[in-house]
Amino acid sequence: MLDHVHGSSRLVGSTPALLELDGLSWGPRASKPILQPVTVRVEPAELLAIVGPNGAGKSSLLRCLYRYHRPTGGTVRLDGTDIWRMKPRDCARRIATVLQEPASDFGLTVAEIVELGLIPHATRVGTAADYYLDVEAALSLLGLTRLAARDFGSLSGGEKQRTMIARAVVQRPDLLILDEPTNHLDIRHQLEVLELLRNLGCTVVVSLHDLALASAYADRVLVMDGGRAVACGRPADILTPERIRENFAVGATLDDHPVTGRPRFSFHLER
Ligand code: ADP
Ligand code: MG
Repeated sequence: MLDHVHGSSRLVGSTPALLELDGLSWGPRASKPILQPVTVRVEPAELLAIVGPNGAGKSSLLRCLYRYHRPTGGTVRLDGTDIWRMKPRDCARRIATVLQEPASDFGLTVAEIVELGLIPHATRVGTAADYYLDVEAALSLLGLTRLAARDFGSLSGGEKQRTMIARAVVQRPDLLILDEPTNHLDIRHQLEVLELLRNLGCTVVVSLHDLALASAYADRVLVMDGGRAVACGRPADILTPERIRENFAVGATLDDHPVTGRPRFSFHLER
């Protein structure tokens, strides 16, 4: 079980960011637009889930949010400032990412990888011992304490993913961006990671394949399809059978989960 359930407050202390996407568009070339203009305001401490079929543009959108892709149109603003007008280091301090494919072998231990999350704060006042307490707290939050000294390359996919999440958490970001962070996780860790994200206190933008997870944990859901943001709103208003059929090309049945009372999704192919 992840320790955040028992309330580790050591890593709390971010100033959740207001994130504004204003007519944001992107493509590798002017002649190849991929992301159609999208305008969304993500409130401080909100958890926004991005869902959509393969190739919908979820990763492209996220790459614009962490200053990897420079928009071909529109802006991304963090607390009112265009991220391309911020110093890269200021961005790195405030925005943490968990990307889809962590490098398979850094030649570092799990604890050392997590420690990398502290680099953007290298000028912060504090002792090495103090920093290590942060690393320990993050390891504990993600259930990795026992793996701290293990070579990162020897971990399972899910353990690697949790290590990269711990690295992002130790950074105490104001905005946390995650691209399909639950991919390799078993069911318990999927639920625990989403629960952790919801309780971090920072603004979170996360792409998810699992509509039930998005529905259960997100404040709002943004649906992408064909490079367009086709809908954005509260899960109950957005994740309807009609929309799922239209954007995911499957039939969907929703009923109330007998234990949690939350919407339960079942899918089938329609001919
Ligand atoms: P998703 O994450 O929703 O699966 P992506 O954002 O990865 O979708 O991709 C959206 C579309 O843009 C896909 O068709 C993909 O092949 C294309 N694409 C993404 N990045 C590039 C790029 N750098 N150059 C050309 N095409 C790209
Ligand atoms: Mg993707």
